[in-house]
Amino acid sequence: MSSVAGSVLRRSARPTLHRAAALSRSPPSSSSLLSTSTSVSGQSGHVASGGAEVYTPAASGPPPIRVSMTESSGRGVFATRPIGAGDLIHTASPMVAHPSASLLHKVCYKCLRRRGSGEIPALSGSNDNVYYFCSEKCRERSKGFLEVESRLNWSAYENHCKERGLKYPFLVKRLACMVVSGTASEDCLDILQPDSIYPEMMREMEEEFELLKLAFVKATIEDALMAFLTKHWYFGVLARIRINAFRVETVGGSYEDLLTSASSSVAADSAVGNAIYMLPSFYNHDCDPNAHIIWIDNAAAKLKALRNIEADEELRICYIDASMDREARQSLLSTGFGFECNCCRCMSGD
Ligand SMILES: [Zn+2]
Ligand SMILES: [Zn+2]
Repeated sequence: MSSVAGSVLRRSARPTLHRAAALSRSPPSSSSLLSTSTSVSGQSGHVASGGAEVYTPAASGPPPIRVSMTESSGRGVFATRPIGAGDLIHTASPMVAHPSASLLHKVCYKCLRRRGSGEIPALSGSNDNVYYFCSEKCRERSKGFLEVESRLNWSAYENHCKERGLKYPFLVKRLACMVVSGTASEDCLDILQPDSIYPEMMREMEEEFELLKLAFVKATIEDALMAFLTKHWYFGVLARIRINAFRVETVGGSYEDLLTSASSSVAADSAVGNAIYMLPSFYNHDCDPNAHIIWIDNAAAKLKALRNIEADEELRICYIDASMDREARQSLLSTGFGFECNCCRCMSGD
C-alpha cells in the first residue's frame, strides 16, 4: 500500500471542513472536455492555449494514455497499451506553479527546485522583491510574469493571504501576471473541473479579488491588459485551483533509484509549493492506485505505474495518504474533494 511520509493530502483539497458540507463533485460539462475520447499526441512541447507546456513524453513516441469518459467519475485517463510496473508513464510541466510562502527565497521562483546549501543564491529583483532562480533558463522563462509582478505592490494582498494561511491566491496572482504579460491566456484553466463555491466563501474571495485588482490598478496597468480581471474570472480560477492544485513534494535523489522499486513509499522532504497541471488533473482517485505522481527535484511531475497495467485499464492515483484506514479516507475524500469513494478497496471494507 502506498504511503507518503508526513503527508495526508497529496493533492490539494478544500482547506476547511464546513465548506464541504454541501458538496458534490459535479460531472464536467461536455464543453470543458478535451473530447469524449482524446488521444494524446506525443509531440514534445505540446502547447496549451495558455502557452504552458503540458507535458513532455517520457521517451520517444506518444505517452501511452488517452483521456476518455468513465462510467461514473466523469473523465479519466486510460492506458492505450500495457504498461509495466515502475514504468514512467509521462511527465507533466506545471501550467502555473508557486513556491510555498515560507520558502520564497529557498526554492526557485519558477520551477520550485530547492536551493542547495552551498549554493550562492542568484537573486533577481530589488529590495522587497527578491527572487531566487535555479538557472538562467528559469530566470529567462520568468521574465514575462516577473516584469509585471515586480511593478506592483503586493504587500496588502500577500499580507491578507499570509495572515489567513491561504496558499491558492498566490497561484492566482502568478496566473494574473502571466496573463497580463501575454505568457498565458486568461482561459487556460477553463478545461479543469471547478470546485463548488458556497455563499460563505464568497466574501473571503471578494476581499482577495479586490486586493488583487487594487494592486494592478495602483500600478496603472493599461485597462485593456487587465480587462480580464473580473470577479467572475477570479472566482472561476480559484474554484479550479482549489480542487486541482497539487502540493509539490520533491523527493530528491534520482529517478532511477525510484524506478527500482514499484512501491510508492517515497519519503518526501515536505512541500516546496503548489502547482496546477492539465493531464495529471484528469486522473481519478483510487485508494489502491495503479499509478503515482512524484516530483524528483522540481515541479516537473512524473507519473509512474505502480503495477502492471493492461491496455484500456483506467489509470488512477491516490489523492490522499493511502495508509489511512477506510473511515479516515472516506472522511477526507468527502470533505476535501466532495465524493464518496467506491473503489474496490473501500468496497471491500479495507
Ligand atoms: Zn528553476
Ligand atoms: Zn477508496
